[in-house]
Amino acid sequence: MLELKNVSKFYYGKDTVASGFTKINLKLNMGEFVVITGESGSGKSTLLNVLSGLDTYEEGEMYINGEETSGYSETDFENYRKKYIGNIFQSFNLVNSYTVYQNIELVLLINGYKKSEVKDKIIDVIKKIDLLKYKNTKVSKLSGGQKQRVAIARALVKDTPILVADEPTGNLDSKSAENIMQLLHEVSKDKLMVLVTHNYDQVEQYATRKITMHDGKMIEDKMMVPQNKEKEAENIEASKPMKIRNKIRLGIRNTFNILPKFLLLIAVYLVLCLAALGGYSSIKKQEYEKSKLGSNYYFKDTSDKRIIIKKKDESVIQKEDYDKIKTLPNIDKVIENDLLLDQMVSVHGDRYGFMARIENNETMPGKLDVGRMPENENEIILKVNRTYFSQRDIEESILNKDFVIRETNNYLEIFENKLKTVGIIFDEEKIDYMNMATIYLNSSKMEQVRRSMNTVSSKLEVEFNGHIIKINGQYRVVPNKKVPQGKVYAYEELNYMAKNNNCKNKPLTVKVQNRYYTDSITLKVEKTYNKRNAKQLLGLEEVNAYQMIFYINPDDYYSLFNKGIYQSSVFIEDEQKVQETLQELDKLGYQTLYVKDTLVDYSEGMASVMSNVTTMVVTVVVVAALFFLSYFIIKIILKSRNVYYTTIRILGATRRNAKQLLKIELLTVLNIVYVGIVLASVLIKNGIIEQEFIYSLLRYIHLADYAILYVGLVFISLLISNRYARQLFKKSVMNTYREEV
Ligand code: ADP
Ligand code: MG
Repeated sequence: MLELKNVSKFYYGKDTVASGFTKINLKLNMGEFVVITGESGSGKSTLLNVLSGLDTYEEGEMYINGEETSGYSETDFENYRKKYIGNIFQSFNLVNSYTVYQNIELVLLINGYKKSEVKDKIIDVIKKIDLLKYKNTKVSKLSGGQKQRVAIARALVKDTPILVADEPTGNLDSKSAENIMQLLHEVSKDKLMVLVTHNYDQVEQYATRKITMHDGKMIEDKMMVPQNKEKEAENIEASKPMKIRNKIRLGIRNTFNILPKFLLLIAVYLVLCLAALGGYSSIKKQEYEKSKLGSNYYFKDTSDKRIIIKKKDESVIQKEDYDKIKTLPNIDKVIENDLLLDQMVSVHGDRYGFMARIENNETMPGKLDVGRMPENENEIILKVNRTYFSQRDIEESILNKDFVIRETNNYLEIFENKLKTVGIIFDEEKIDYMNMATIYLNSSKMEQVRRSMNTVSSKLEVEFNGHIIKINGQYRVVPNKKVPQGKVYAYEELNYMAKNNNCKNKPLTVKVQNRYYTDSITLKVEKTYNKRNAKQLLGLEEVNAYQMIFYINPDDYYSLFNKGIYQSSVFIEDEQKVQETLQELDKLGYQTLYVKDTLVDYSEGMASVMSNVTTMVVTVVVVAALFFLSYFIIKIILKSRNVYYTTIRILGATRRNAKQLLKIELLTVLNIVYVGIVLASVLIKNGIIEQEFIYSLLRYIHLADYAILYVGLVFISLLISNRYARQLFKKSVMNTYREEV
């Protein structure tokens, strides 16, 4: 079964070489109960460790079932231990935080059994060692004799052909020792039992062979019973790899097993995760704040809460549309006439003039600071920014004064009547000329504003007898009440464009085009005017000979501009949820434009490149510092686990298994902490827990960011466990074990 030919073992120190044993020749067979005895330091344990593959040898050759082992790798020895060896130690080598059942189960799980097939086996063997009522007791609570019984059960349950025991009774009183020896004898029938003891009397009655060591040499090899003919072990099952489910099971068991260790790891991970999350979110916040800077040529209101919408089919947006939009989540308000956001009007009083924005009075904030609410069509509320208007301005020149409102391109009056300011709201918003003053108007007044905005932002064209006349400074279309509906009064010059030099009663089409729509109206030229009849026909004092003006009825004129709304702005509550809102609007059939995305930061350049580099460097340094800090703390915490990991390797776990268990343990802690943190942030984000500061940071972190962060933390955990495992497992099992115990 096992054969040693001239085998020697040396221990190499820094500058010394010690001899464990020298030139041993030995052949061990199945069915033997071999007792190795000798004084302390004579090399018994060393020999046993080499025999059981826990330690390497330097000279000679060891054969296992006739196979040479001098070329064995670490993995080959792992397999050998797994398949052939059951170990029993003087110091028991149990996992103290496990129960009796779990200790025995451990060896089976490591050796590739399924959870479902181990239960009966374990109970059987616990009965055999007579500890059934301690099944669920932690082994740390057992007496020495009981512990050794558990260790024997653990060696037995694997059902290997060879059992090795190193001073199994060394820590026991003589009564328990006797019991243990008897048990060992019982269970070792048909196996090869190799037992080390310095107290030969205790085992004499069971031994079939006695080997005596002295000073590293074998000085006696005595057979007590006639040697059976050589017999090799039969039916040795190929070793099975550990099941993944059992790795996870054990990894998780180990996580919670030792409470102080678990809590310490949780604390370290909590700090690690919070530091990572905090750093990450403040970078995101900074980035976001930076992206808000900048300006854009088209839009004056560049708020990061503004989304511009148009219907995909380019039709007019109806009231039902607005109602639907308002039911979406994250909608603060809808500014139906979007043009008003980017265009100001000029407000002219007798003594005072200023620029203002127009808004629908539905969006008017809370309560008045001065004055009263409007009582008729021509009374308005004004919101003013304190930085632009003094108390005196307001009292002397604004409140209860009449104003004319003009659009800013052509200074055309928007309303027929003057408007009187009867109420004032003070506004403390940041200094921004767009927010200097806001006039609140009712819907019908808003329509008039829109019409006038359309008027100034449209291009007109007149088509007459195949001629296309672009309306500009020289050619104009002007409303005049004296012209009947459906008719045009044209300058007599138009005759030159007509057939037979007569334009009367010919059709004339006025076309309008702007960003939102095109439209046209076809009228009939009824009369022509000239210098002489202009006064009588149209009420004009004079006629400019260089202009050709088409006078048409005001209703016809305004029908070209009095249109519904084609473009509106939606203001959202939380700019961090803009993507969701954009999608919802898209689903409802709108083209969307998020105004912030159109901003160009003209200040970008060297300065911002520098600040990006700085951020990067700082991030890398912080991540590295976090990594090493957590590595060292975790290493210290895990130090107490070294015994555990060596023990499971003695029991047959491969180096890889041990590493994986360690990974699972760390990842479990990470997951617990991370789930906790994510839960807490969900609660804070939804306002269930109120935490202003954390909320302000979390706003900038999205689902994807949590995922990135998670991957990063997993990566760090794997790195830590790899480093740790490399250090712990680079030596042979016995070397590690010797250092730790
Ligand atoms: P025993 O088990 O019979 O008491 P050991 O096998 O433990 O003896 O030791 C045999 C010899 O090997 C002793 O001289 C001991 O000093 C030496 N030895 C054992 N372990 C080591 C070690 N890790 N490093 C150096 N020398 C060792
Ligand atoms: Mg010893």
